[in-house]
Amino acid sequence: MQFSTPITKIPNIGPAYQKKLGKLKIKTVGDLLFHFPVSYEDFSKKNSISSIFHKGKYVVLGEITAISSGRTARRNFSYAEITLKDSTGKIKSIWFNQPYLAKSFKKGETLLLSGNVDYSKEGLQFINPFYEKLKNQSFPKNKIAPVYPQTEGLSSKWLRFIVKSVFYDLKKNIEETLPKEVIEKNNLYPLFVALKEIHFPSSFSSLKKARERISFERIFLLQLSLLKEKMRLSKEKGISISVDIEKIQDLVSKLPFKLTDGQKKASWQIIKDMEKNTPMNRLLEGDVGSGKTIVAVIAALSAIRAGYQAAFMAPTEVLARQHFDEVAKLLWRFKIDVGLLTGKKDLWRSKKLKGDYLEISREKLIEKSKKGEMDFLVGTHALIQDKVKFKNLALVILDEQHRFGVEQRKKLCVKKDSAVPHLLSMTATPIPRTLTLTVYGDLSLSVIKEMPKERKKIITKLISPKKRNEAYEFIKKELKEGRQAFFICPRIEEGEEKENSPWKGLKSVEEEKERLEKEVFPEFKVEMLHGKMKSTEKEKIMKDFKNKKTDILVSTSVIEVGIDIRNASVMVIEGAEMFGLSQLHQFRGRVGRGEFQSYCFLFASSSSEKTRKRLKALLTAQNGFELAEKDLEIRGPGDFLGKRQWGKADFTMEALKDIDLVESARETAKEILEKDYELKKYPLLKKRVERIKEKIHLE
Ligand code: ADP
Ligand code: MG
Repeated sequence: MQFSTPITKIPNIGPAYQKKLGKLKIKTVGDLLFHFPVSYEDFSKKNSISSIFHKGKYVVLGEITAISSGRTARRNFSYAEITLKDSTGKIKSIWFNQPYLAKSFKKGETLLLSGNVDYSKEGLQFINPFYEKLKNQSFPKNKIAPVYPQTEGLSSKWLRFIVKSVFYDLKKNIEETLPKEVIEKNNLYPLFVALKEIHFPSSFSSLKKARERISFERIFLLQLSLLKEKMRLSKEKGISISVDIEKIQDLVSKLPFKLTDGQKKASWQIIKDMEKNTPMNRLLEGDVGSGKTIVAVIAALSAIRAGYQAAFMAPTEVLARQHFDEVAKLLWRFKIDVGLLTGKKDLWRSKKLKGDYLEISREKLIEKSKKGEMDFLVGTHALIQDKVKFKNLALVILDEQHRFGVEQRKKLCVKKDSAVPHLLSMTATPIPRTLTLTVYGDLSLSVIKEMPKERKKIITKLISPKKRNEAYEFIKKELKEGRQAFFICPRIEEGEEKENSPWKGLKSVEEEKERLEKEVFPEFKVEMLHGKMKSTEKEKIMKDFKNKKTDILVSTSVIEVGIDIRNASVMVIEGAEMFGLSQLHQFRGRVGRGEFQSYCFLFASSSSEKTRKRLKALLTAQNGFELAEKDLEIRGPGDFLGKRQWGKADFTMEALKDIDLVESARETAKEILEKDYELKKYPLLKKRVERIKEKIHLE
């Protein structure tokens, strides 16, 4: 028997079970062994029945003295019930919806029960406990029994039996998947031992070590694939852009502010990176409002002055438009042609024009780009259409890069004629260090840690329903002083949700706009913005808001990224529990951009413990890095990573919190690749790394 042996060859698995296993995608012995338990029953401490006074978790061993079955009076559930007796007393145990159990038990049999004891009409009893029949009365020593994910018709008991027989058959014949040196260096269990300990732990500490081995392997493989990509890119031919320091100083000296140290450092790293003749692949991480755009513009100026083109892609039209305006304003002295390419209206800011924009047809804009007459193209996804061509693209900037898929990111960078353009990705969603290494392990990193000095702390409050009117009064005062306010709602329009839908009762943009306009702030001008509106309409509304023609903007999350309105001082978020911490932090970053003290008011329609804990984190943490660490702590890594990539083994996700493990996996991967980039000596690793690549590409 081997990993690849089909389960049909395992004795005791008939067609019916094959089908059930098939539903879990278990087709081979290997699949079966990687179908991991979700939890374990710890039988190491036995309780005597007479010692059970309270509800809680217990383990007892006894003899069955009575068996019955039937249906509950109230909800007509079927149940099976037994009475168990040990030398100290008796207790009942009930199982719902498993009527067949009554037939499988016999009076006089010895049974081990483990699980929850709770109150019922007849006093304390076990409810749906885990059970195991034993041949004799002796209590199994240090027994830890695996509990597999619940699947209809496949009991943990049966799975344990089958898995045990497979191990018996396999002996030690499991092919090791990691090189010996890796196992030795990191003091890992061999695969056979790890799998055996996961299914039949000899102790909780060896179980931990077994899981560590499996997690290590996955993270190690991912690191191999990331680092291999990084090395591959460093072997590609890039475009060496020599630094024109005077031009950059010229740009910087005319800014209305001084660059922060973080901005200076990041700009320098980027410019130096672009000087090399290998393509840059760099991530610029910096909190909302930390001033990433100017850093990107410095990089673009550098590339364009050297005679190349640059492209700047943003996730939304509103944002692309804002960047276009800002870029055009900053660069027009340098005689640079800037184009805006979005889904709708295309614009051109020509060096020949002193002030205004020209509307330009899509065809013409593309033609100009192809001929190299357009130095800088700003746009949305429209930039990656196949018909968009460049003459000599040297720098691609991606704003809010997490909003783009892997494929979209790749596509812009593959747009090459000879050399691969430099790539600068930007994100305001800082993620914890362990995850940075995992998700962005193939990128170089620049981080802007500080905010521009003048920026004030945004006062954040979680408002209880009773205090809603008080908050409105406060907002009125702000508006009267000439400030503006954002209201974020979780959805566009009122929908018809099922009774238990989490969306039930959440505010919609359309309704809220009307309500605020008519009932709450009749003396102010209210507008709304959402993704279903036409882009011309959206643009007008943003423009009106920017020009202070409107006081209140009610919006969905389209407002999330990058919008810069310096006069806005209030951010209200309705249904705050529907958003992730990072996203909430992004919303909050829409205010406090100018000199005014700003406020963020959160309203939550749920008051669960988890929600409150999460939202509270937002009250104390002002910086995205802190919040990211908190999100990791409270919600786990799932929010940061695609869940799919990690599949069933939740504990690998957990392991991503372990910086030591992630770093040693990365270190080990690096060592191997430095010795043998092609993985010639490691054919198995090579095959598996290629499979990871395919998977990432399919995401
Ligand atoms: P983000 O990092 O969120 O993209 P932006 O680049 O949009 O931030 O910058 C936010 C605002 O801060 C802009 O109005 C920008 O002009 C301004 N800004 C950028 N750098 C500084 C600085 N060093 N000092 C003061 N204001 C700055
Ligand atoms: Mg930005």
